[in-house]
Amino acid sequence: QTALEASRMRTTPKVMREKYFSAGSQFVECGDLHRAAMCFQNAHDFLFAAIAFEKIGKLEEASGQYVRAQEANDASRCLEEIGMFGRAVRVLVDFEFFDRAIDCLHRYEIKVQKLKQEGRAVPAVLIENKPSNVHSEANLCYRSANFYYSRGNMDKAIEAIQRLKNTDDQVLFLQEKGFYEKAAEILRKEGKIEQAAQLLLRCGETDKALECAKHGPHKPMVAFIHLCLSRRYESDEHNLEKVKFHAERALMVYTELEDYNGQAQAKLLLGKHTKNEKQIKAACRDFRNVKPPNEAGELECYIVHATIMKGLKTLKDYYQIVRNIALGLRILDVLSNPNIEYSDRHQLYLSFYGLELDLVRDQVTWYPHQYPLCNHIMETKEMKGKHFVSLDRVTAVGALERLYLSQIKIWAQMAKVWLEEYTLSHLLCIRYQEGQLCSADCRYMHRPYESTQERNAALDSLVCSVYLDYSMQTGMEKLDKNKHKKSDSDESSWNAVEKLLDFVLP
Ligand SMILES: [Zn+2]
Repeated sequence: QTALEASRMRTTPKVMREKYFSAGSQFVECGDLHRAAMCFQNAHDFLFAAIAFEKIGKLEEASGQYVRAQEANDASRCLEEIGMFGRAVRVLVDFEFFDRAIDCLHRYEIKVQKLKQEGRAVPAVLIENKPSNVHSEANLCYRSANFYYSRGNMDKAIEAIQRLKNTDDQVLFLQEKGFYEKAAEILRKEGKIEQAAQLLLRCGETDKALECAKHGPHKPMVAFIHLCLSRRYESDEHNLEKVKFHAERALMVYTELEDYNGQAQAKLLLGKHTKNEKQIKAACRDFRNVKPPNEAGELECYIVHATIMKGLKTLKDYYQIVRNIALGLRILDVLSNPNIEYSDRHQLYLSFYGLELDLVRDQVTWYPHQYPLCNHIMETKEMKGKHFVSLDRVTAVGALERLYLSQIKIWAQMAKVWLEEYTLSHLLCIRYQEGQLCSADCRYMHRPYESTQERNAALDSLVCSVYLDYSMQTGMEKLDKNKHKKSDSDESSWNAVEKLLDFVLP
């Protein structure tokens, strides 16, 4: 009766809903739950409607009402009871109850498996209502983990991702979100010691990485971590004893492994910090002898050597400087040449600075903790403290170019000034040769050569000057060409060739 009244009151929805509600209550009292449910539904009291539907076993209808009442768990429970697992999972997913959705998925799998084991046919309702592939367990684990992660609940996020069956996927997710230590822990449990150590290394837990790598036959990794530790103390704390200790350890293992590139790096570190010229030269030799030769390493040796030597004195020293310039320019030529045939050497040079080249994306990746060697070259404010940096190749190469060019410039100026002075004082004055009187401020030599050696020294210095000019000029031209820019070098400032010709053919 009340329901009838309610249905007639179309004008005021609020009053109508109240009427429906009291009608529903009356139906409950007389035990007609189906009608009661309909009334509650019209009264927008979805929870009561759901309960009423459930009581009379209309579970699908009950589920719909539970959803409208925002009771996802009850809605899902009803659907599951009548075998509609697909929808049961979806309701939970829609309400972001991912963990419960996974549980529901498991119950479906267990149920089907049990039937199969017992040799019974799987009912059509279960087959038709199989949870969608979109709601695979892996997918739900990811969504669950991301859900917690985006809300800042890291413990729950880690817990959720660990429900994934595939540990590689777990590690990938953890790594992506920066949970390096957790990822390393999983890898370690899986026996993937080397990968675990690498991860720890990359997130700056270098000591833990070493401890981890020592568990097992991972000598290259152990040696590499010692190198990293040595470099870290070099750049962070200037703790000389530790720099030396770890470099020595690295050298020991690399020697055992007959890894010359590794040995060279360790020797360079040792030589640099003990100011041991012999050690640096040995490093240089090793870099040159590896296949293919590591020219970037070689150049670094020369740079270190030039800084620890107390002043350059002889023509031989300056010959070396000019050779360094030529080497630097050769490396720059390769680096600035985008030609694909140079990509192997790009990779080699960049890897000396810990930069991994990805040819497909034309990007380089750098792990500052693992490879602090190029902090001063690469690091910008945004990179500070990061475990992982991605740069496009042009930026990375540009930074190396600036480094090399500034060094080359210093060397070239130094050599030019010295060679000019040296050449001047070793060349005979033309006026003097012709028997004329010369002014007092003339800086050429006013006496005959006393030996062939003395004459040869003059010749050598001229040749060295030519070598310098030639290297600079061709090197710069190549760089310009690589960059499709016009040459702007001042040719008149490189006139040693003329001087040499004057000397040989007076
Ligand atoms: Zn003179």
